Amino acid sequence: MVNQERKAEIANGLEIVMAQINAAAKSANRNPSDISLIVVTKTFPRSDVDFLYELGVRDFGENRDQEGVVKAENFHPDTNWHFQGQIQGNKIKSIVKWADVIHSLAEIDHAKTISDRHQMTESALPTKYPVLIQVLLDSEKRIERNGIEPKALIEFADAIAKNSGLEIKGLMAVAPIAENPDIAFAKMADIFSDFKEKFPMATWLSAGMSGDFESAITHGATHIRIGSSILGNRSYL
Ligand SMILES: *Cc1c(COP(=O)(O)O)cnc(C)c1O
Repeated sequence: MVNQERKAEIANGLEIVMAQINAAAKSANRNPSDISLIVVTKTFPRSDVDFLYELGVRDFGENRDQEGVVKAENFHPDTNWHFQGQIQGNKIKSIVKWADVIHSLAEIDHAKTISDRHQMTESALPTKYPVLIQVLLDSEKRIERNGIEPKALIEFADAIAKNSGLEIKGLMAVAPIAENPDIAFAKMADIFSDFKEKFPMATWLSAGMSGDFESAITHGATHIRIGSSILGNRSYL
């Protein structure tokens, strides 16, 4: 496909999704500007990321270090790169260099490594590295997912909060496959509301993907992570 056609395709996808975000916000009596769209560019080429930037997108999501590092490096400085994939301990050193925030923290060892590695990057001091804690909503664990069980969340967050190198920005969740997202995200809204009483600085609720972002918006998501609705189906290599 020639470049201009691809750019038009992405522009069209983006326009449709933005309209859907606005409509969902409106029917939930929310201000659309309180909802941040993160475009998930995993598996898509850097040229698509360039088009998205030209179209005004500034927040990008990636799941893998190897991919994120090549897209984010030497990219425009006025962008935010969100790491949202399962964390591998040996990749943290690299991830904290290109990712501005990690959404998928779910292991205490990783928290310490993120903090230590962040402190070692020259540009970082004295800032804290922003993280979201991923919450496991799949009570029956139909498929294994990354995340902290809701009942263990406060204890986990207390341990993270003791680490002076990290800032708990909020919570992240993925709706379980084959469950009604409305039920999952309603549960998440309760968890988030309780969480904010103890951690008032945790203002982000990262929830909602292509198939369920409207439901996530209804239930208070502040950050939605959308890939295929904008960029098309991913072809896994
Ligand atoms: C891939 C992915 C997304 C985006 O998924 P789409 O269905 O393509 O919108 C969002 N969040 C996470 C954690 C992902 O892995």
